[in-house]
Amino acid sequence: MSEPKQTAESTGNNPYIFYEDSTTDYPAINPADPSDIRMVEGYYSDLRARILAEVRHDETALNIGRVARFLDHYGIPMHEFIAVYTEDVPALERLVGGSEDAEAATVGGYFSTMDLSYVVRNKKDEAVNGPEVTEASLAHELSHASSTIKSVGLARSQSGEMGSLLLRTGFRVDDETDDGIGAFFEEGFAGLMENRYITEELAMPNGFSQGSEPQRINVGDMTYKQPRSYFVDSSPDGRFGSSSPASHAAYGMELLIAKDPTILEVMLKARTDIQGLRQFAKRVNDLSPGLYRALARRPYTSVNFMAATNHIIDKLYDGNQDKAIETFSDSSPLVFTK
Ligand SMILES: [Zn+2]
Repeated sequence: MSEPKQTAESTGNNPYIFYEDSTTDYPAINPADPSDIRMVEGYYSDLRARILAEVRHDETALNIGRVARFLDHYGIPMHEFIAVYTEDVPALERLVGGSEDAEAATVGGYFSTMDLSYVVRNKKDEAVNGPEVTEASLAHELSHASSTIKSVGLARSQSGEMGSLLLRTGFRVDDETDDGIGAFFEEGFAGLMENRYITEELAMPNGFSQGSEPQRINVGDMTYKQPRSYFVDSSPDGRFGSSSPASHAAYGMELLIAKDPTILEVMLKARTDIQGLRQFAKRVNDLSPGLYRALARRPYTSVNFMAATNHIIDKLYDGNQDKAIETFSDSSPLVFTK
């Protein structure tokens, strides 16, 4: 497949870049005149307004002030969001289906083109863990939303329709394969904020889990241990639970920060400043040559992110899982030095 050909550059605050790409089909948005940027923006602001008006959202029992206070401590501003019960997710998917990836919306997401986040309220999970479990997801999505560095591609695709594709949000740059270069860092950043909400703001060192021992995870012949706070129980007896793909990247990011605490500050700077993105890559490579690239190339799946974090442990912690876990708990609760 050929690279999409860039035919016009975005300028100023305008995040849109135009492409001619007849090799791929992108979700159609079909603004009346795609070359008129106001039409494209109008398309998204109309869609945003429809979502807010038509999708049932409910913040009852969520402590939004606490989430806002926590994010503010890290210099992350609040952005608009909706909290949607599981049964109302299809209504959201119907609206955004044509223009965004409304992927398996089990936890939440951030619509970069509309600057709108959503979290999914799972009644069963909230019954087991409290509404705080949803607040933690909200901290995650709003952390994605903190990126002012984004670009959206508008492509005339195979079918002749105009479609949109997200090219960059924060650390993540998408390519045609949609593997998401930099997904490990973008998810790691959001997952880290989510986990710190749990361990710092909610003061739950073991997270929502009833256990305290690191969680051992076996995938094929790969073994990996993760601090307990990333694990969420899904049954009241604590026998069943899971950790998200992002949580594996988040743990990896914490292990980088443990080796160089200034990585936290450049990571936050990178949300709004392109210099921060460059400094972040440099600091990661300073820890081990080529490490940034090795991590950036991991597609967004649990197994890939686990393998990436294991790669960090191999390079920086002598391949010793227990040493890595100890570093993590030694520095917990993690204190921000700004
Ligand atoms: Zn995420």
